[in-house]
Amino acid sequence: MKDFFRNMASFLPDSVQKVIDEFSRLPGIGPKSAQRLAMHLLQSPELKINGLAKSIAEVKAGLSFCEKCWNVCHGEICKICDDSERLETQICVVEDILDVVALEKTRQFRGVYHVLHGVLSPVDGIGPDQLKMDALKARIESLANQEVEVIVATNPSLEGETTAMYIVRMLQPLGVRVTRIARGLPAGGDLDYADEVTLTRALQGRSEYV
Ligand SMILES: [Zn+2]
Repeated sequence: MKDFFRNMASFLPDSVQKVIDEFSRLPGIGPKSAQRLAMHLLQSPELKINGLAKSIAEVKAGLSFCEKCWNVCHGEICKICDDSERLETQICVVEDILDVVALEKTRQFRGVYHVLHGVLSPVDGIGPDQLKMDALKARIESLANQEVEVIVATNPSLEGETTAMYIVRMLQPLGVRVTRIARGLPAGGDLDYADEVTLTRALQGRSEYV
């Protein structure tokens, strides 16, 4: 099938082919979708395309990672950490930024987050040093003498569970309460694909590690 599209694509001008190639490098976009997107652009008014190109070009401008939770933000602290109504002693640990987006959509969580930027995966050479694990430990230590709950919301995959166990072993000696979101999520599933009701149930049904 890929060859079919490649052959077909050879009739196209280089500029169009380049756009198709770039699109097909994006996650979740196959060659067919890449072609459809490129065709859609060809049929769109130039003003719209320029708007899209501008948004893409500026997506990283002025962005950084929050110094507290490693979520993406403008400036030093993200909007969530900066919100005085959020409970800074309830920290939900997630794999990536999209998990924050998914959990925020539920509007049920009033604590703050800690984004690990991945999961432990020895096969891929990803150990604790490649994740924001030390930052998590330091953050919890800085909350000493307060009643802290760490909710581990890594995905229910093998790597997600391994990461969760690592966090438990790292944090329990610090005397904090560590809980894990309920297993209402499909095994091997991704948090950011779960619907809001499932995520809310997973949060509410969390249980303690003993
Ligand atoms: Zn933050």
